[in-house]
Formats: sequence, C-alpha cells, structure tokens
Amino acid sequence: MNLESHIKNLISFNGPIGVDQFMEVVISHYYKNNNPFGSKGDFITAPEISQMFGEIVGIWCANHWMNTGSNTFTLVEIGGGNGTLMSDLLRGTKHIPKFHQSITQIAMVEISPLLQAKQKSTINFSNIAWYNDLNELDTENCIIICNEFFDALPIKQFIKEDDGFKEILVTLNNGKFEFIKSSRLFHNLTSASTGSIIETSSASLAYASVIKNKIGKNGKALIIDYGYVDPPYKSTLQALKHHKYHDVLSDLGTADITALVDFKALGEVFPNSKITTQGEFFKTYGIEARAQSLIQNGANANEVNLALYRLTAAEQMGSLFKVLETR
Ligand code: SAH
Repeated sequence: MNLESHIKNLISFNGPIGVDQFMEVVISHYYKNNNPFGSKGDFITAPEISQMFGEIVGIWCANHWMNTGSNTFTLVEIGGGNGTLMSDLLRGTKHIPKFHQSITQIAMVEISPLLQAKQKSTINFSNIAWYNDLNELDTENCIIICNEFFDALPIKQFIKEDDGFKEILVTLNNGKFEFIKSSRLFHNLTSASTGSIIETSSASLAYASVIKNKIGKNGKALIIDYGYVDPPYKSTLQALKHHKYHDVLSDLGTADITALVDFKALGEVFPNSKITTQGEFFKTYGIEARAQSLIQNGANANEVNLALYRLTAAEQMGSLFKVLETR
C-alpha cells in the first residue's frame, strides 16, 4: 500500500492523528526510499559542504579522549547519512598517535538500508558495524556524535487558545489532508500568549536518555542540529524537496520533513551540558586554522573560504545551528 493510502486508512479508522504520528510514518518512509543529500537530493548538510566539518568533529573526539586518559572507547554516529562526516573524521585524526587503535568499534546507527549501504562504501575502518537502533548496542563508554539527526524525530504541536492549549492534528477533508485543532483542552503547558504554538518531542527526550546511558561515566556526546534554546512560539515543521520549501501535507514521502530541535529540553536530559552555536563551536576547535592549512596545501582559497563562511557565519549556519556537548 502506498504511503498516502496508509495514512488515509489510519485517519479513517482512528480519527485525526497527531503531528508526531504523521511525521513518524512519513519520515521513516522517506528515509527508507530516498537518498536526500547533495545537489541532486532534497537538502545539503554541513558535512557535505566541507571536509572541515568532519575533521573538526574528529578533533573534538580526540580532545575528549586525551583529556580522559586515552582509554578505549566505541565511536558511535547516529544518522550518518552518506558517511561523509565519519570518513572525514577518520582521515582527519589519522595522524593522532594511538587514537584509531583506541576505537574498539565504530557503531553506525542508521535506519535507512539505502544509507547503510552507502556508508559501507564510504567509510573505511577495520572494526565497524551497523545498527538500526542505539539500544541494540551493548556497550558503555561511547563517544557519540550526530548531525541533523534529532530534527528528524517526531514532534507534537499545541496551540494556545484563550481557555488552554489544543493539540494540532492531521485529518482528512474530502480526501485531502489538513491540520485541525483537537477539541480536547490541555492546561498549564506553559505561559505562552494566545495563538502561540509550542512543540514537544518525547521521541527526542527518549533518544537522548538512551544516549546518556551509552556514554556512561567516561563517554561524551556531541549533538549538532538546527534548533533553539528559547522557543519561537510558532510552528517549525517544514518540508524540503529539491532544496525548496514544500507543502508538508502534499506528495507525502517525497520531501524531507523536519522540525527545529528544542535544545533547552535536550539540555535537561544532560545536566551541565554546554550549548553553543555551530559558529562558536567550530571556531573554538580550530576551523579557521584548518581552512588556512587547506589553502596552504593547495586547496582553492575561494572554495575553502566560502565553505568556512557557510558553516560558521551567523547569517548562514553559524547561529541557527546549535551544538550540545555533554559533560
Ligand atoms: N548526519 C548526516 C545525515 C542527516 S539526515 C549529515 O549530516 O549529512 C538524518 C539521518 O538520520 C539520515 O541518515 C537518516 O536515515 C537517519 N535517521 C532518521 N531517523 C533515524 C532513526 N530513528 N534512527 C537512526 N537513524 C535515523
């Protein structure tokens, strides 16, 4: 059965569904059937913009590894896409003595069989394995990284009315999908003004708890994504198809659907974590010096500087994208 018929059946049998259920069904179908990245895909992510992204994430991992006694660890990436970040990370840390030997295993957590296959051809490492879910990994002391993973996890949306909050649901009207408000009222969710939309993601919080479990005492996690610390009080749900905004409710499964990540809520799962912007984080870990050295080694200066600008400038990805480092 195709995706639209499947969701239509869901709604006909059960009534309107939450944005979370809608997102979950659409996204898992999308990721299982498309390769969304790069100029021919639907969107471009930071690791695909420049090798510097993965290299600097590698420096961050190595830095933590050194600071904590150079012990062995499992290196985990969740939602690794084409495998570009991991492959740049490994190449960029090759020269660090004993770092690669300390990685007991690389664990790639990836739901898409298509992308798992792609990662197998991109990443070259002696001991590497693939998992569908982080829960399948039976080890602690992991260093865990993810870029643009959390934005793919489902959210619920609530809109403030004078008498309380109503959940935003997806329903069918004459065979077409549309958003409606629940008749049920939710009280005291927060003190937002009338018309404000708030978003919650229990799926994100649950996944963050599993991450917390897997980093144990000595591990560390790095979560990079577009998101906010202070809620925007409006819908952040969006669909992208071939690099253009697309109606969330039409041609289901052909566009990528995401929502901004609530970093404040994630931060509550990891006490004492540090949240910065992508610009700040990558500058702290030396992206400007890395750009210079690439240019000195013969890379095209305009291309490297443009990539540096796209990754770090506030008006590009530098400030909308946030970085959470656990402590
Ligand atoms: N990190 C990559 C890809 C980001 S897109 C990059 O920056 O280019 C989101 C990735 O998360 C895809 O690889 C997608 O298949 C994967 N993904 C989505 N939901 C997932 C889930 N529940 N478990 C594991 N991987 C998931």
